[in-house]
Amino acid sequence: MDEIFRFTIQGDNEGYVTFECPFCGSEFKLQAGEYQDSERPFDDLFCPYCGLTKNKNSFLSSDIIEKAQALAQNYIIEKLNKAFGKMQRSINQNNSVIKMRYKPLKKINVKELKDKDTSECIFECDCCQRHFKVLYYAGVSKIFCSYCGVDI
Ligand SMILES: [Zn+2]
Ligand SMILES: [Zn+2]
Repeated sequence: MDEIFRFTIQGDNEGYVTFECPFCGSEFKLQAGEYQDSERPFDDLFCPYCGLTKNKNSFLSSDIIEKAQALAQNYIIEKLNKAFGKMQRSINQNNSVIKMRYKPLKKINVKELKDKDTSECIFECDCCQRHFKVLYYAGVSKIFCSYCGVDI
């Protein structure tokens, strides 16, 4: 099965979605529209705090991964239900001796992802004009753009 799952990430009131750095574990937020902009695709993200870079999928938060898994599971359940429903109908029609009963599987609940509104600063990158939010706490001397990695 090589289907691609697509779903929309919604984000907080300003449309920002939480990501998690796989290196330092810090959270930051990216603007959902910019992250999902098909006109400007990218493969790697930079952590705004430590500046390290990795494939963008490594930055997905556990909430997003959980939702993707639930959607994938439901997708498979739906396919199974359809296939077995069809099989059931064709077996049960021509007065056959074998009867088939299939109880459709229940789909699992997919919780709506809603990002909590926390107090962060929005930064705009001078280089690519894209936006991100970081927790601006004392001690942070440098902030890197999540998309192009330049320091701001
Ligand atoms: Zn980091
Ligand atoms: Zn940038």
